[in-house]
Amino acid sequence: MNCIFCNIVEHKAHSEILYESENVLSFLDINPVNFGHTLVITKKHYGDFISVPKNELAHVIKAVQTIAGVIKTKLNCDGFNIVINNGIAAGQTVKHFHFHIIPRFHNDDFRFKLNLKKYSDNLMKEYADKIRAELKFEGTF
Ligand code: AMP
Ligand code: ZN
Repeated sequence: MNCIFCNIVEHKAHSEILYESENVLSFLDINPVNFGHTLVITKKHYGDFISVPKNELAHVIKAVQTIAGVIKTKLNCDGFNIVINNGIAAGQTVKHFHFHIIPRFHNDDFRFKLNLKKYSDNLMKEYADKIRAELKFEGTF
C-alpha cells in the first residue's frame, strides 16, 4: 500500500510539519482552502473515522483542539471549520484518517453548497428510530 500520509509520517515525503507526538502528526495541507489549512492525522494508518480505536481518537481530538486554538490566535481568523471527509461520496481523497482545520474569514468566498431537504409525514421519526435502535446496544461512552 502506498499512502502519502504514511510516507509523511515516515519522513519519506516532505511536508510542513507543525506538531508531532507519539500518536499524532499535524502538517499544512498542500492545497489549502485558506492559508494555514491544517491536517491532523493518526500516525498509524486507519482508513477512516470509524476504524480509529477510541483511545487513539482521544489523542487526535485533543491535538485538534490545541492546534485549532493556536491557528485562531496566530492567524487571527474569524472562525474555523473542523472537517472529516469519510468515503468518496463525502469527498475523501486520501484514505488515511485525518481531520481538516480550515481557518475562515468573513467573505472568504468558501461555501458548502447546501440543498436542504424536508422530512414528510413520519419520515423524521423513522430515521431517528433506525439510528436509536442500534445506539441502545452500544451502552454508555
Ligand atoms: P480529503 O479530501 O479529506 O481526503 O483530504 C485530503 C487532503 O490532503 C487534501 O486537502 C489534499 O490537499 C491534502 N494532501 C494531499 N497530499 C498532500 C501532501 N503531500 N501534503 C499535504 N497535504 C496533502
Ligand atoms: Zn497511511
